[in-house]
Amino acid sequence: MNSALNAKGIIMRAFEQFRLKSCVNFKPRGSEYHFISAQKNRGCSSHVGRSSKYGQPLSIGNYCDHIGIVEHEFLHALGIWHEQSRYDRDEYVTIVWKNIRCGHERNFVKVSPHYSTTLGFPYDYSSVLHYSETSFSKGKGPTIITKQPEYQKIIGQRLEMSPQDALMLNKLYGCSKCRLCGMSRCTKSLVGGWKRMKTVIGGPYSDFTNLGKTDGTGFFMHASTASGQEGDTARLESREMTPSRKCRVQCLQFYYYHSGNELDQLNIWIREYRDERDPIGTLRLMGQITG
Ligand SMILES: [Zn+2]
Repeated sequence: MNSALNAKGIIMRAFEQFRLKSCVNFKPRGSEYHFISAQKNRGCSSHVGRSSKYGQPLSIGNYCDHIGIVEHEFLHALGIWHEQSRYDRDEYVTIVWKNIRCGHERNFVKVSPHYSTTLGFPYDYSSVLHYSETSFSKGKGPTIITKQPEYQKIIGQRLEMSPQDALMLNKLYGCSKCRLCGMSRCTKSLVGGWKRMKTVIGGPYSDFTNLGKTDGTGFFMHASTASGQEGDTARLESREMTPSRKCRVQCLQFYYYHSGNELDQLNIWIREYRDERDPIGTLRLMGQITG
């Protein structure tokens, strides 16, 4: 990453969103042939998908240091085209060719189904990969008109990837197989350890997020101490989180359901890393929940 410092912070925040919303993770380059080289060139741009060996450039230039724009470019690098390039886009938008700045028409061509796929998803006007109504306009009117007028001002949003952008990314990368949301388990001695469950006899009967709504669709992590002995432990470790540059604070929030023995303990540890040169970090006990 050789971008200016401000963009670096935004890029790290975007990576955090990828980690939270999908199983896609970014790490500093080791000895890989294929890698993304984030650079501060002219404009914001990226190849769609993997391109050259020895570093494919991804430009985060002036005015590109916004999280939605950075997500947009990295989604390209991960293989996703512009939403209005979908081969079925003419059913959803009209391209006003006469309003497009000369020489930029190729940005509005459709990508044939030989080179792209919708993965079965409907057209998404709120995609972070959709152009706005005035993208590449001569200044004499819109270049894109949505067939459903209520979406005219929605296209081009650059706040963050849309829920469907995230779903698409997850499908493309087979993230549903990442069953533990990036967490890893380690059972020291407790039989069974942590398990991913939909429901447990005796409770909880569903996960908290879906409580009372759509039963049986969500999951939670469960450890039973029913057959455990004193001193048995099971550990559940989350993936690393990167606090945003501005506040340098990361919230940890979770719901818990305790129906075990009053001697059972749930310990919450946090490992904090000073910087990239601190691979081990410092482990601190943040809280202890007992029966
Ligand atoms: Zn783009």
